[in-house]
Amino acid sequence: MAKAQTTHIAILPSPGMGHLIPLVEFAKRLVDQHNFTATFVIPSNDSPSKAQKSTLDSLPSSIDSLFLPPVDLSDLPGDSKIETVISWTVARSLSPLRDALKKLVANTKLVGLVVDLFGTDAFDVAREFNVSPYIFFPSTAMTLSLFLYLPKLDEMVSCEYRDLPELVRIPGCIPIHGKELLDPTQDRKNDAYKWLLHHTKRYGLAEGIIVNSFMDLEGGAIKGLQEKEPGKPPVYPVGPLVNVDPSSKADGSSDCLQWLDDHPHGSVLYVSFGSGGTLSSNQIHELALGLEMSEQRFLWVVRSPNDKVANATFFSVDSQKDPFDFLPKGFLERTKDRGLVVPSWAPQAQVLSHGSTGGFLTHCGWNSTLESVFNGVPLIAWPLYAEQKMNAAMLTDFIKVALRPKPNENGLVCGDEIAKAVKGLMECEVGKGVRNRMKDLKEAAAKVLSENGSSTKALSEVANRWRNQASRN
Ligand code: UDP
Repeated sequence: MAKAQTTHIAILPSPGMGHLIPLVEFAKRLVDQHNFTATFVIPSNDSPSKAQKSTLDSLPSSIDSLFLPPVDLSDLPGDSKIETVISWTVARSLSPLRDALKKLVANTKLVGLVVDLFGTDAFDVAREFNVSPYIFFPSTAMTLSLFLYLPKLDEMVSCEYRDLPELVRIPGCIPIHGKELLDPTQDRKNDAYKWLLHHTKRYGLAEGIIVNSFMDLEGGAIKGLQEKEPGKPPVYPVGPLVNVDPSSKADGSSDCLQWLDDHPHGSVLYVSFGSGGTLSSNQIHELALGLEMSEQRFLWVVRSPNDKVANATFFSVDSQKDPFDFLPKGFLERTKDRGLVVPSWAPQAQVLSHGSTGGFLTHCGWNSTLESVFNGVPLIAWPLYAEQKMNAAMLTDFIKVALRPKPNENGLVCGDEIAKAVKGLMECEVGKGVRNRMKDLKEAAAKVLSENGSSTKALSEVANRWRNQASRN
């Protein structure tokens, strides 16, 4: 498609596969349903990962991508949190972003720059070219509500949020304990919190916020977000935007999918902690014991352990060491008839849409959650980092599509607790309500994405705004 004639959007994903994947789905919908063209402009602090490359290589020709030169972050303290690393990566990429936008303005009908949750520093560059800044929020409407509320909460509360005796009341959302709010709010002196606050104060500069959620999942939060207030951008719930293309095969896909073909319908528990999640060595051991004790079938994406942080592969995806070395002795042999263990990465969207998959033990990353909802696969919630504890609380206590094994007083989830949750989800009475509610949500998701569904209409509204702008320019 000639890019000079079509409405064109630039998309700036901040580092992390969990940010890139939903933006890719968003771009595909704009191309397929609205004849747009798009360019991914990708800031990074390293060379592109295999997962990033294979995702971008699979895109149609109407979606371009270009990597900005990796920024130097060697001056950052070694214990910088991911939000700090991401924010500095974007902030130090503004000059090459400016060059990229200049070319796009000259060669395309560029009307909008879409950033994700930590990309607001790019707004200033968009404004220089008279390009409208938008946010694509790849997490829950509840987290977005918290982001919009945070500047006020920051003024009202002087202690750490985790020490608040009363629950935090985010507008439109279920009250939540301060210690369950997303990670960067847990230490207000840390740079990660300062960056978060910086971005949330700039959310009002966006001309619109597109959120990957839908009414049947988060009605209260979405209604709250759509109430008009001065300085609050319009919010468009377009979810669940997930990879639904059965032909897009990732590396190693055939092994997993062929293995699933050989097992009965709905019988396999898929176990994965997203692109960045890592467990401690002890926890990997207990998880293996739990899976073995449960006597259920499983497909486990395992990474080498990290005893210090729970998101060790956030920027790289791949394991640092051979993860199989950390499994209990004889585990692979003892479970070989009913378990498959794959290192680092699996074609998750295809695994979750496979008929043999009947449950998902997940870190509650929002893309993983939506992929499960889309396919009607019930969950075991095992949050690790970022906003995952908020998601787990919502999925378990409010939407009731997940069971949640309890950690012991040392934070370790023990084998017997895991086995109980796995059995409960896959075959016992306790999981029946969860399984049925997930089926209802799957139907609701199909409805909002149908031709006249609310998410399809919300996407059309954004597209129409951009199209009108292109015809005015
Ligand atoms: N993913 C995948 N294979 C894996 C792990 C993750 O395809 O082995 C994909 C998954 O389908 C999802 C994304 O990576 O689309 C992870 O996003 P999510 O928001 O769930 O978690 P994050 O990785 O950002 O913590």
